[in-house]
Amino acid sequence: MQALFLYNTLTRKKEEFKAIKPPFVGLYVCGPTVYSDVHLGNCRTFISFDMIYRYLIHIGYKVRYVRNITDAGHLEGDRDEGDDKFAKKARLEQVDPMEIVQKYTVGFHDVMQAFNNMPPSIEPTATGHICEQIEMVKEIIEKGFAYEVNGTVYFDVEKYNKDFSYGQLTNRKLEELLEGTRELSGQDEKRGRLDFALWIKAKPETLMRWPSPWGWGFPGWHIECSAMSSKYLGDVFDIHGGGMDLQATHHTNEIAQSQACNHKSPVNYWMHTNMLTVNGVRMSKSAGNGFLPGELFTGSHPLLEKGYSPMAVRFFMMQTHYHSTLDFSNEALQASEKGFERLMEAHSTLQNLKASATSTEDIKALQQKCYDAMNDDFNTPVLVAHLFETVRIINSANDGKLSLTQADIDLLKTIYQNFIFDIMGLKKEEEGNSKAAGALSKVMDLVLDIRNKAKVEKNFPLSDEIRNKLTDAGVQIKDTKEGSSWKI
Ligand code: AMP
Ligand code: ZN
Repeated sequence: MQALFLYNTLTRKKEEFKAIKPPFVGLYVCGPTVYSDVHLGNCRTFISFDMIYRYLIHIGYKVRYVRNITDAGHLEGDRDEGDDKFAKKARLEQVDPMEIVQKYTVGFHDVMQAFNNMPPSIEPTATGHICEQIEMVKEIIEKGFAYEVNGTVYFDVEKYNKDFSYGQLTNRKLEELLEGTRELSGQDEKRGRLDFALWIKAKPETLMRWPSPWGWGFPGWHIECSAMSSKYLGDVFDIHGGGMDLQATHHTNEIAQSQACNHKSPVNYWMHTNMLTVNGVRMSKSAGNGFLPGELFTGSHPLLEKGYSPMAVRFFMMQTHYHSTLDFSNEALQASEKGFERLMEAHSTLQNLKASATSTEDIKALQQKCYDAMNDDFNTPVLVAHLFETVRIINSANDGKLSLTQADIDLLKTIYQNFIFDIMGLKKEEEGNSKAAGALSKVMDLVLDIRNKAKVEKNFPLSDEIRNKLTDAGVQIKDTKEGSSWKI
């Protein structure tokens, strides 16, 4: 087994990875909240953990990868206030909340497949584990770390902090955390400012509700991950991941809930991916700067110059370390698209390369450098730099400027298979598909230009006709202040 080092958020150090029961590894990643489409930022986190999952498998671990689906219990506010996101969307679309869950779960799976993410070993849902969550809430109450007020159960953060450290994941003291939280008002039910809901009493209009010892209600968001991770991976497991935005609240509360039950820290290695940003601002649903994967593939977003294939986008993500922020721009995507094409062309050249009797290159050393990069906290940008070195070698060998033996050529093929296809999860695009997508994007730019000109010239019958005929053809146009976007 390779010596693998990874950055552990909990200890704030790069540490050698030691599995609890090698070769088995338990990996839990917080999945999507399926009340709307996933944006590219969410995809960055899931693609990063897919790469991590793939590498663990590649170096010989047997990984049980659990990635949940949050399909209940997610309120709009971080502090147990506001509308239930599912109920709100269901009202808006005039459907049952479970229709919302189904629609966006299917959409999420389509996107994961487009990016060539491997399915997790288990994909549990919050609604499928209500009993486990109720049992866990009961246990936390029994251990004295939670209390019920009027059908809602709260976790008692200050009491917990007397025995354990509530701010351990973010390295903050309780006093600092309290300072950053607003005072309780007379209307608040909870005792402490930092207390959070484990179980929430249903309002008369709440559709997603379940019976519990505290009356009809639904689980708080954080309890689902504690209940499902312990069910499938045990009370203490190897790796827990998610985006950095989950550290301060969701993951901090997960640790508190599990530790309150078992008196043990539930996770040995906490891993967090950094954020995908647009002009330096985190991509998020609430900021309204979310690019949908579909808009990216077709180039239909007004701020995009063209469409990009899922593999070009995946390669774009691999060129930055998962722990650094990644800024999204047309230029960066175009550079990644070119880089990915160069890699794929070199792969084709490699298949027909003629062997020489002697070698001028040390391909074994290059392979080791690729492993060293991955063993250094999954450093994909360094790996990509080494892979571009293989491109140079392949092209030079093809031009007769250097020589490779058959063994070198076979090893280069292994490097491509292992690092590009199996570990980074890239795959060759069907040339026809990406060319058709490129052509469609250009045709749509042309049609929208003609329609805009018609609007400027006040030729509304023509602009309406274009819109209606596109609708008949299954293409929907949206006019925004940045311009017009389209989707199929
Ligand atoms: P959500 O569906 O909002 O719960 O998010 C699903 C996952 O995407 C979580 O692990 C988040 O931390 C992650 N995430 C959200 N926004 C971003 C972003 N801009 N960049 C990277 N990951 C993100
Ligand atoms: Zn979670």
